[in-house]
Amino acid sequence: MIDKKAFRSLSYGVYVVGAVADGRRAGCIVNTFAQVTSSPAQVSVAINKENFTTGVIRAAGRFTAVALDESAPMEMIGTFGFHTSVDTDKFAQWDSAEDEAGMPYPTVHTAARFSAKVVGELDLGSHVLFVGEVTEAAATGGVAPMTYAYYHQVKGGKTPPKASSYEGPETPSPEAGAAGDAAGASAPKRVGWRCTLCGYIEWVDELPDDFVCPICGAGKELFERIEE
Ligand code: FE
Repeated sequence: MIDKKAFRSLSYGVYVVGAVADGRRAGCIVNTFAQVTSSPAQVSVAINKENFTTGVIRAAGRFTAVALDESAPMEMIGTFGFHTSVDTDKFAQWDSAEDEAGMPYPTVHTAARFSAKVVGELDLGSHVLFVGEVTEAAATGGVAPMTYAYYHQVKGGKTPPKASSYEGPETPSPEAGAAGDAAGASAPKRVGWRCTLCGYIEWVDELPDDFVCPICGAGKELFERIEE
Protein backbone atom coordinates (compact mmCIF):
# COMPACT_ATOMS: atom_id res chain seq x y z
CA MET A 1 0.00 0.00 0.00
CA ILE A 2 0.95 3.61 -0.42
CA ASP A 3 -0.08 5.85 2.46
CA LYS A 4 -0.30 9.42 1.13
CA LYS A 5 0.29 10.75 4.64
CA ALA A 6 3.86 9.42 4.47
CA PHE A 7 4.71 12.00 1.82
CA ARG A 8 3.72 14.81 4.19
CA SER A 9 6.77 14.00 6.32
CA LEU A 10 9.06 15.19 3.54
CA SER A 11 10.43 18.71 3.98
CA TYR A 12 10.78 21.23 1.17
CA GLY A 13 11.42 24.87 0.50
CA VAL A 14 9.53 27.20 -1.84
CA TYR A 15 11.44 28.38 -4.89
CA VAL A 16 11.00 30.50 -7.99
CA VAL A 17 12.70 28.89 -10.98
CA GLY A 18 13.32 31.02 -14.06
CA ALA A 19 14.94 31.17 -17.47
CA VAL A 20 14.82 33.14 -20.71
CA ALA A 21 15.06 31.92 -24.31
CA ASP A 22 14.24 33.64 -27.59
CA GLY A 23 13.34 36.78 -25.65
CA ARG A 24 10.67 35.00 -23.59
CA ARG A 25 11.11 35.08 -19.83
CA ALA A 26 9.43 32.27 -17.93
CA GLY A 27 9.28 31.31 -14.29
CA CYS A 28 7.28 29.22 -11.89
CA ILE A 29 7.11 28.14 -8.26
CA VAL A 30 8.43 24.74 -7.27
CA ASN A 31 9.11 22.90 -4.04
CA THR A 32 11.39 20.39 -5.77
CA PHE A 33 14.65 22.34 -6.06
CA ALA A 34 17.49 20.64 -4.19
CA GLN A 35 21.23 20.33 -4.00
CA VAL A 36 22.32 16.87 -5.12
CA THR A 37 26.14 17.02 -5.04
CA SER A 38 28.74 19.38 -3.58
CA SER A 39 31.81 18.81 -5.76
CA PRO A 40 30.97 19.94 -8.28
CA ALA A 41 27.97 21.74 -6.82
CA GLN A 42 24.92 20.40 -8.62
CA VAL A 43 21.22 20.94 -8.13
CA SER A 44 18.07 19.31 -9.44
CA VAL A 45 14.56 20.55 -10.05
CA ALA A 46 11.42 18.73 -11.20
CA ILE A 47 8.95 20.77 -13.25
CA ASN A 48 5.67 19.77 -14.86
CA LYS A 49 6.00 19.21 -18.60
CA GLU A 50 2.95 21.39 -19.19
CA ASN A 51 4.61 24.39 -17.56
CA PHE A 52 5.80 26.93 -20.11
CA THR A 53 8.94 27.31 -17.99
CA THR A 54 9.99 23.72 -18.77
CA GLY A 55 10.38 24.44 -22.49
CA VAL A 56 12.18 27.71 -21.84
CA ILE A 57 14.70 26.03 -19.52
CA ARG A 58 15.27 23.33 -22.13
CA ALA A 59 15.86 25.94 -24.84
CA ALA A 60 18.10 28.06 -22.63
CA GLY A 61 20.07 25.15 -21.19
CA ARG A 62 20.14 27.13 -17.97
CA PHE A 63 17.92 28.15 -15.10
CA THR A 64 17.89 30.26 -11.99
CA ALA A 65 16.34 29.37 -8.65
CA VAL A 66 15.69 31.62 -5.67
CA ALA A 67 14.68 30.42 -2.22
CA LEU A 68 11.74 32.57 -1.15
CA ASP A 69 11.87 33.79 2.41
CA GLU A 70 9.05 33.97 4.93
CA SER A 71 8.30 37.58 4.02
CA ALA A 72 7.17 36.60 0.50
CA PRO A 73 3.53 37.69 0.13
CA MET A 74 0.86 35.42 -1.33
CA GLU A 75 0.60 37.92 -4.19
CA MET A 76 4.15 37.03 -5.24
CA ILE A 77 3.46 33.31 -4.95
CA GLY A 78 0.28 33.96 -6.92
CA THR A 79 2.18 35.70 -9.71
CA PHE A 80 4.76 32.97 -10.15
CA GLY A 81 2.76 29.95 -9.03
CA PHE A 82 -0.79 30.38 -10.26
CA HIS A 83 -0.40 32.06 -13.64
CA THR A 84 1.25 30.98 -16.88
CA SER A 85 4.31 32.60 -18.42
CA VAL A 86 2.79 32.10 -21.88
CA ASP A 87 1.23 35.56 -21.93
CA THR A 88 2.74 37.16 -18.82
CA ASP A 89 6.24 38.37 -18.00
CA LYS A 90 6.13 37.50 -14.31
CA PHE A 91 9.56 39.03 -13.70
CA ALA A 92 8.26 42.42 -14.81
CA GLN A 93 5.79 42.39 -11.89
CA TRP A 94 8.42 42.01 -9.14
CA ASP A 95 11.86 43.55 -8.78
CA SER A 96 14.16 41.30 -10.77
CA ALA A 97 17.71 41.07 -12.09
CA GLU A 98 19.65 38.90 -14.51
CA ASP A 99 22.58 36.61 -13.78
CA GLU A 100 25.80 36.60 -15.81
CA ALA A 101 24.14 34.42 -18.46
CA GLY A 102 21.15 36.76 -18.70
CA MET A 103 18.75 34.46 -16.83
CA PRO A 104 16.14 36.32 -14.76
CA TYR A 105 15.47 35.98 -11.06
CA PRO A 106 13.44 37.98 -8.52
CA THR A 107 15.44 40.08 -6.07
CA VAL A 108 12.78 40.62 -3.41
CA HIS A 109 11.67 38.27 -0.61
CA THR A 110 14.51 35.85 -1.30
CA ALA A 111 16.97 34.16 1.06
CA ALA A 112 19.34 32.87 -1.61
CA ARG A 113 19.74 32.66 -5.35
CA PHE A 114 21.34 30.10 -7.62
CA SER A 115 22.19 29.86 -11.30
CA ALA A 116 22.76 26.54 -13.00
CA LYS A 117 23.74 25.16 -16.38
CA VAL A 118 21.70 22.10 -17.35
CA VAL A 119 23.86 18.94 -17.48
CA GLY A 120 21.15 16.30 -17.48
CA GLU A 121 17.46 15.77 -17.97
CA LEU A 122 15.28 12.82 -16.92
CA ASP A 123 11.76 12.20 -18.20
CA LEU A 124 9.54 11.42 -15.22
CA GLY A 125 6.25 11.14 -17.09
CA SER A 126 4.27 14.13 -15.86
CA HIS A 127 7.44 16.02 -14.93
CA VAL A 128 10.97 16.59 -16.16
CA LEU A 129 13.89 16.42 -13.75
CA PHE A 130 16.63 18.86 -14.70
CA VAL A 131 20.07 18.49 -13.17
CA GLY A 132 22.27 21.54 -13.31
CA GLU A 133 25.80 22.50 -12.39
CA VAL A 134 25.82 25.60 -10.21
CA THR A 135 27.49 28.58 -11.87
CA GLU A 136 26.48 31.28 -9.37
CA ALA A 137 25.17 31.24 -5.81
CA ALA A 138 24.56 33.99 -3.29
CA ALA A 139 22.84 34.46 0.04
CA THR A 140 20.48 37.37 -0.55
CA GLY A 141 18.66 38.12 2.66
CA GLY A 142 18.45 37.82 6.37
CA VAL A 143 14.93 36.48 6.70
CA ALA A 144 14.37 32.74 7.20
CA PRO A 145 13.78 30.75 4.04
CA MET A 146 10.18 29.73 3.58
CA THR A 147 9.50 26.04 4.02
CA TYR A 148 6.67 24.31 2.21
CA ALA A 149 5.12 23.58 5.63
CA TYR A 150 5.20 27.32 6.47
CA TYR A 151 3.54 28.08 3.13
CA HIS A 152 0.70 25.69 3.96
CA GLN A 153 0.32 26.30 7.70
CA VAL A 154 1.06 30.00 8.09
CA LYS A 155 0.31 31.42 4.66
CA GLY A 156 -2.69 29.13 4.05
CA GLY A 157 -1.26 28.16 0.67
CA LYS A 158 -2.51 25.39 -1.58
CA THR A 159 -0.79 22.85 -3.80
CA PRO A 160 -1.85 23.25 -7.44
CA PRO A 161 -2.63 20.10 -9.47
CA LYS A 162 0.51 20.42 -11.59
CA ALA A 163 2.86 20.33 -8.58
CA SER A 164 4.97 17.25 -7.87
CA SER A 165 3.42 16.87 -4.41
CA TYR A 166 -0.25 17.29 -5.41
CA GLU A 167 -2.38 14.76 -3.50
CA GLY A 168 -5.70 15.19 -5.30
CA PRO A 169 -8.72 17.25 -4.25
CA GLU A 170 -8.89 18.08 -0.58
CA THR A 171 -11.71 16.50 1.38
CA PRO A 172 -14.02 19.14 2.82
CA SER A 173 -13.70 19.56 6.56
CA PRO A 174 -16.78 18.67 8.64
CA GLU A 175 -19.16 21.57 9.20
CA ALA A 176 -18.41 23.40 12.40
CA GLY A 177 -21.16 23.35 14.98
CA ALA A 178 -22.66 20.05 13.79
CA ALA A 179 -25.81 18.52 15.26
CA GLY A 180 -26.06 18.75 19.02
CA ASP A 181 -23.41 21.43 19.42
CA ALA A 182 -25.65 23.94 21.11
CA ALA A 183 -22.81 26.06 22.46
CA GLY A 184 -21.23 26.32 19.03
CA ALA A 185 -24.51 27.30 17.45
CA SER A 186 -24.89 30.33 19.68
CA ALA A 187 -21.39 31.69 19.14
CA PRO A 188 -21.18 34.38 16.45
CA LYS A 189 -18.98 33.26 13.59
CA ARG A 190 -17.08 35.13 10.95
CA VAL A 191 -17.94 34.03 7.42
CA GLY A 192 -15.45 34.02 4.60
CA TRP A 193 -14.69 32.45 1.24
CA ARG A 194 -11.45 30.59 0.62
CA CYS A 195 -9.93 30.14 -2.81
CA THR A 196 -9.43 26.42 -3.35
CA LEU A 197 -6.56 27.11 -5.74
CA CYS A 198 -4.31 29.47 -3.78
CA GLY A 199 -5.80 29.71 -0.29
CA TYR A 200 -6.70 33.41 -0.40
CA ILE A 201 -9.57 34.27 1.97
CA GLU A 202 -12.14 37.04 1.39
CA TRP A 203 -14.02 37.78 4.65
CA VAL A 204 -17.49 38.60 3.39
CA ASP A 205 -20.92 36.94 3.74
CA GLU A 206 -21.47 36.54 0.01
CA LEU A 207 -19.15 36.92 -2.96
CA PRO A 208 -20.41 38.91 -5.94
CA ASP A 209 -20.96 36.78 -9.05
CA ASP A 210 -18.13 38.48 -10.91
CA PHE A 211 -15.63 38.03 -8.06
CA VAL A 212 -12.13 37.05 -9.14
CA CYS A 213 -9.37 35.91 -6.79
CA PRO A 214 -6.86 38.79 -6.48
CA ILE A 215 -4.02 36.28 -6.08
CA CYS A 216 -4.59 33.59 -8.70
CA GLY A 217 -7.49 34.85 -10.79
CA ALA A 218 -9.87 31.98 -9.91
CA GLY A 219 -13.58 32.67 -10.32
CA LYS A 220 -16.26 32.63 -7.63
CA GLU A 221 -17.09 28.96 -8.32
CA LEU A 222 -13.66 27.92 -7.05
CA PHE A 223 -14.22 29.47 -3.60
CA GLU A 224 -15.46 27.46 -0.63
CA ARG A 225 -17.39 28.92 2.31
CA ILE A 226 -15.63 28.90 5.66
CA GLU A 227 -16.51 30.01 9.18
CA GLU A 228 -14.39 30.73 12.20
FE1 FE B 1 -6.78 32.16 -5.63
